[in-house]
Amino acid sequence: MTDPAVTDPLAGATVVGDTAVGDTVAGDTVAGDTAVGDTVAGDTVAGDTAVGDTVVGDTATRDAVVDDPTGPTIGVLALQGDVREHLAALTASGATAMTVRRPAELAAVDGLVLPGGESTTIDKLLRTFDLFEPLRERIAAGLPVYGSCAGMILLADRVLDGTRDQRTLGGIDMTVRRNAFGRQVDSFEGPLDAPDLAGGGAPLRAVFIRAPWVEDTGPGVRVLARTGGGSAGGGKIVAVRHGSLLATAFHPEIGGDTRVHRFFVAMVRENRDAARTHHPSS
Ligand code: GLN
Repeated sequence: MTDPAVTDPLAGATVVGDTAVGDTVAGDTVAGDTAVGDTVAGDTVAGDTAVGDTVVGDTATRDAVVDDPTGPTIGVLALQGDVREHLAALTASGATAMTVRRPAELAAVDGLVLPGGESTTIDKLLRTFDLFEPLRERIAAGLPVYGSCAGMILLADRVLDGTRDQRTLGGIDMTVRRNAFGRQVDSFEGPLDAPDLAGGGAPLRAVFIRAPWVEDTGPGVRVLARTGGGSAGGGKIVAVRHGSLLATAFHPEIGGDTRVHRFFVAMVRENRDAARTHHPSS
């Protein structure tokens, strides 16, 4: 395929061409194809290993392997964005991970990740690849879906600062503001308190890249994290759960801390096991 929007992780976001800071950070960390990207990811992994992998991670993996040797099958929507990083994080979290580009692949998964990238591009590609309606239907039927950054936007019922023709899959009763943190702090990372997502462990290391924030949520939505501090971007909702849908404004797939993915894998496993209890023959 030659279409850069399809083949290049985050190509859309980079080409859209925000500031030098945004481009560099997005290119290096999210696309992660180059030596530079690997170095950045590697650095962060080193910093997080003791917390994420040793304390929380190992126990979760061990339990999962005993009960469920292959893990649930979780797809990563692979039309654009940081697909590879999510596949790796899901595999490290005990799932069987696969890319999803076709309706038949969507039909085969127990859960789905919508990666970061550019929500307007992914929205268009979903329709080009005949996935928009099938995915909406599966979401309505209770498919567990986790959206990070652009994926969060796609799961929002309402979007502010979207493009005029932008549509979302919807499912989470919330309003998100696109590119909300603004040009000055386009991309940043830092510790984020999210006890549920972090399994009660140390704060998550959260990477934000031209991220949205959540302006408001409906009654069924649980807020899982807010940014800290009293600055302009402080106290903003950046992680939510609504039934079987999970969304974060940040990118946990970067940096080797797999706790958010483990949380999602557990959601998918519960959902699948509940379905089997109700339909024992399937
Ligand atoms: N700003 C992008 C959008 O609107 C999201 C950026 C990201 O996913 N890192 O889709």
